[in-house]
Amino acid sequence: MGDSIFTCCYVPPHPPGEGDPPGSRSRRSEITMTSNSANISSDKRFLIFFDFDETIVDETSDDMVVQAAPGQHLPDWLKDTYQPGRYNEYMQRVLAYLAEQGVTESDIRSIMEKIPASPGMLTLLQFLRTRPPQDFEVVLLSDANSFFIESWLRRAGARQIFHRIFSNPATFNKDGRLVMRPFHSHDCARCPNNMCKQVVVRDYVARRTEERGRPYQRIFYVGDGANDFCPALALGPRDVAFPRRDFPMHRLITETHEAMPGDFKAVTVPWASGEEVVQRLRRLVAE
Ligand SMILES: [Mg+2]
Ligand SMILES: [Zn+2]
Repeated sequence: MGDSIFTCCYVPPHPPGEGDPPGSRSRRSEITMTSNSANISSDKRFLIFFDFDETIVDETSDDMVVQAAPGQHLPDWLKDTYQPGRYNEYMQRVLAYLAEQGVTESDIRSIMEKIPASPGMLTLLQFLRTRPPQDFEVVLLSDANSFFIESWLRRAGARQIFHRIFSNPATFNKDGRLVMRPFHSHDCARCPNNMCKQVVVRDYVARRTEERGRPYQRIFYVGDGANDFCPALALGPRDVAFPRRDFPMHRLITETHEAMPGDFKAVTVPWASGEEVVQRLRRLVAE
């Protein structure tokens, strides 16, 4: 990525927990890295969720981190430990292996900082940043981890756009190893055992609607993966799903429309560039 288009106006986020009413923090908000909803003003008309890998960035950060390994690949004995549905535990082993090989925090950060944004995505982020403050509440929801995401967003100067980030918490321990923990547990059969994004979306929307005392005008979801299909199922007919064109989320929506008409309620706007998302949002905010 080249020099940031946002660096001129970077504002550090609020420290976590600032302004909390006593007892208001759920377990889930405690393990995210960002300010909680007590810091978000209640006048926002729209709520927009973003996935990270292959949505904001044009790669999968878990694959990119392998570039830090000796020879830029993982040994077969380590790859062979992957079990279906247990991806998060596998990544914990990958991160432990990298630390054993002497890979440092700055090595990992510099790999993350170089991941390119998806086409048109910086334009979309810039659009959100320059809208009036009462327009968008912006939430990032990712099965990568908090360190990868924060590293990329800070380099892009885009960190302050996001009011909340929900991801697997990851911090360096005293031995210099990046330790990642599962985000939560759930009982959705569709999703990996450490994260169901639909549970996060439903909980977040319910809690924020209560705090605000009114619903959002519309909810948007920008994603690409199979694990973005599950949360998009929770959207209503006024909401808009933005699946990356020809990626798994888009295919699952198309298949659901054919097999079970009416099950998927949101308006669907596929995108190949973030500029297509901007065009649709411009029309909707003008309504
Ligand atoms: Mg993705
Ligand atoms: Zn799910």
